[in-house]
Amino acid sequence: MQEIKLRKIVGYAYRNVPFYRKRFDDAGTKPESIKSLDDLSKIPFTVKTDLRDNYPLGILAVPPNRLYCLHASSGTTGKPIVVAYTRGDLERWSKLMGRTLDITGAKKGDIVQNMYGYGLFTGGLGFHYGARAIGATILPTSVGNTKRQLMLMKDLRSTVVTSTPSYMVYLVEASRAEGYDPRTDFALRIGIFGAEPWSEESRKRIQDGFGLRAHDVYGMSELYGPGVGIECERQNGLHIWGDEFLVETINPDTGEVLEPGKEGELVFTMLSREAMPFLRYRSRDLSIVYEEECACGRCHSRIARIKGRSDDMLIVGGVNVFPSQIEHVLMNIPGLGDQYQIIVSHKELDRLAVKVEAPPESLRDPNMPKRIQEDLFAVLSIRADVELVELGTIPRSEVGKARRVIDLRPKD
Ligand code: ADP
Ligand code: ZN
Repeated sequence: MQEIKLRKIVGYAYRNVPFYRKRFDDAGTKPESIKSLDDLSKIPFTVKTDLRDNYPLGILAVPPNRLYCLHASSGTTGKPIVVAYTRGDLERWSKLMGRTLDITGAKKGDIVQNMYGYGLFTGGLGFHYGARAIGATILPTSVGNTKRQLMLMKDLRSTVVTSTPSYMVYLVEASRAEGYDPRTDFALRIGIFGAEPWSEESRKRIQDGFGLRAHDVYGMSELYGPGVGIECERQNGLHIWGDEFLVETINPDTGEVLEPGKEGELVFTMLSREAMPFLRYRSRDLSIVYEEECACGRCHSRIARIKGRSDDMLIVGGVNVFPSQIEHVLMNIPGLGDQYQIIVSHKELDRLAVKVEAPPESLRDPNMPKRIQEDLFAVLSIRADVELVELGTIPRSEVGKARRVIDLRPKD
């Protein structure tokens, strides 16, 4: 099935997307030469910067009037990455999301409290479509407003919850502070958490705190959104839906394809995406692929929990932040020095702080921090604490460079 789909999608991308035609021609690869899964490595990679260079919709394979919806996620500069879906794409994604919920044991009759953000971010609507696909009852609370989340969770007897893991860890404490006993006041059975790295320690805290089973879910906007991979009840690696995604691991420095079982950068080929067929898309996420059959009996291969990223992207409370985005904002504000520091910490929730050097006139300008904060918010969609400091006060390394990113979050 994968081979049939691979041959088809390669021909489709070549015929309909000038970007791919050029990539194949430049590499001297004929689409007809991709016959079996063994030929996969002949296909040139697609990378995040290809999307940026073709902003907003340069990789489209269909006329724009066939698009059913558009989503966007933050790119490495101020410009977001825009992703597009035809009606067929939306149906396929919904089915995958239905399966993603189903594998956890969620079903009709469950009340799914969806605490992922609704909007341009794919998390909210992705789980929304999935809950609809399995006939569960959806409670679209979206992000934030913790008091109301907890009240509805209790009063409506939510049984399934979806959110970033860091928010759910926070809710263990927040619910106690609000006077609830998280184990007895709520009816949660299942939790589905992703969009940022997390650990076994966090899993334990969530599971013990709420008395639910916590599943890791993986995805990214370029690959529809969430629901590329999900843990089954064994919680032993995330099954990648193999009828839609071919997964490989490569050495991020050389591009060499690695054997299953070896850690490397995950590379995905989408097998039936209509609007934007991504071939060998480099995720920058580091993991391991396992091909052995899982104890649950499913044959979709698995990946290990995401270990980290091979680029410098930070994930702050589920939101992607590239240091280059912050630099871009700061450099566009007149009257600031060129040294800055990004400090990420965690106290109940992830926090982002930006320290920037400024000459005396700017230090005296009472509106400056607010202006920086607003410009950062416009690009990142998160609030950063901004501090102006005197020129020369941010410590430099021997080569004179400031240490740009300080991540104070506990590793576990
Ligand atoms: P999403 O809507 O899934 O957050 P984005 O495109 O905004 O999509 O971000 C995708 C990135 O989020 C991934 O490349 C990965 O770095 C991170 N991510 C998503 N899910 C997980 C997960 N379960 N564990 C670790 N990182 C994750
Ligand atoms: Zn399994």
